Amino acid sequence: MNKNILITGGLGFIGSNFIEYYLEKYPDHSIFNLDKLTYAGELSNLKHIKNNSRYKWVKGDICDKNLVNSLFDEYNFSHIIHFAAESHVDNSIDSPDQFINTNVVGTFNLIDVARQYWMKAPFELKKGCETNRFHYISTDEVYGSLGKEGLFTEDTPYAPNSPYSASKASSDFLVRSYFHTYGMNVVTTNCSNNYGPKQHDEKLIPTIIRKALKGQNIPIYGDGKNVRDWLHVLDHCKGIDLAFHNGKSGETYNIGGKNERDNLYIANKICSILDELKPQKKLYKDLITFVKDRPGHDFRYAIDASKIEQELGWEAEENFETGILKTIHWYLSKYNS
Ligand code: NAD
Repeated sequence: MNKNILITGGLGFIGSNFIEYYLEKYPDHSIFNLDKLTYAGELSNLKHIKNNSRYKWVKGDICDKNLVNSLFDEYNFSHIIHFAAESHVDNSIDSPDQFINTNVVGTFNLIDVARQYWMKAPFELKKGCETNRFHYISTDEVYGSLGKEGLFTEDTPYAPNSPYSASKASSDFLVRSYFHTYGMNVVTTNCSNNYGPKQHDEKLIPTIIRKALKGQNIPIYGDGKNVRDWLHVLDHCKGIDLAFHNGKSGETYNIGGKNERDNLYIANKICSILDELKPQKKLYKDLITFVKDRPGHDFRYAIDASKIEQELGWEAEENFETGILKTIHWYLSKYNS
């Protein structure tokens, strides 16, 4: 079936990996990428497909309702996969405004325009729109923080702790409400921390690699004991693909690879791989420096992914140790070029 898909935020880390993966896998589908190219977007992330006839990027803001309307007029999208967001927790602490605009108002604009284009009335779809779908890309951070034990399931009560996670939780609820109130075909995926190629320099793993290679201090928050459930970005893309095509309408699916690692382990692991690949006189781990903790820093996130595994047949292919090695090779060629 031909699909004309609107992807938002496709010049960012996960969106660009997804677009590349998707175009290759589905030769009949076309992708339209609406991305504002904020500081977090990177044109070079998709430079090799910019002439692909099934791909088009338009620079624009998802908060601009007139623009979103005019794009629907012109391209008659049948599906939306919504990645665009302000995504860095530290920035949400310093300046939360833009997180509310993009992550809440932007999602509302998109889903409400889609509703008007796809639906005649609540629970009544326009002819030809019966299989249209809105897929929202969300995060496990909406569930708050775990102690040493336990996992986030789809039934874990929401308890977002940062302006970032609160803005994402707000959109999860908006998307949910469009299913219950209007009968829109929606699906939401809540994923754990991603790593892999094309991630912005500001994030933890690119920062560790970059600082190490420059011989600069590697900053680690607090005592380095905060735990995240790390997932390679391509495993996330495969989960999104499955939920987008086969997920049940109105459902949410947690995606995570059972790869809980604390920040100090990650820094040490990257340093030991760099010691082998790019040996220096001193060990890279000597650069690790503990810095003042992030305010409200969640202690631990960990995902129970059994719903997407059992219902949709998803499984993470990389573990942290195999994935981080490939990732380091990618950043070595980025930072050396
Ligand atoms: P990113 O910051 O790398 O990229 C965000 C992209 O959105 C950029 O290309 C940016 O230009 C674009 N954008 C921002 N504001 C926009 C606006 N108003 N209008 C149009 N485009 C705009 O983000 P990412 O890490 O790729 O995350 C993508 C999505 O996945 C986000 O919704 C994020 O919350 C979610 N998520 C990320 C992770 C992770 O570990 N990175 C984990 C789970 C969920």
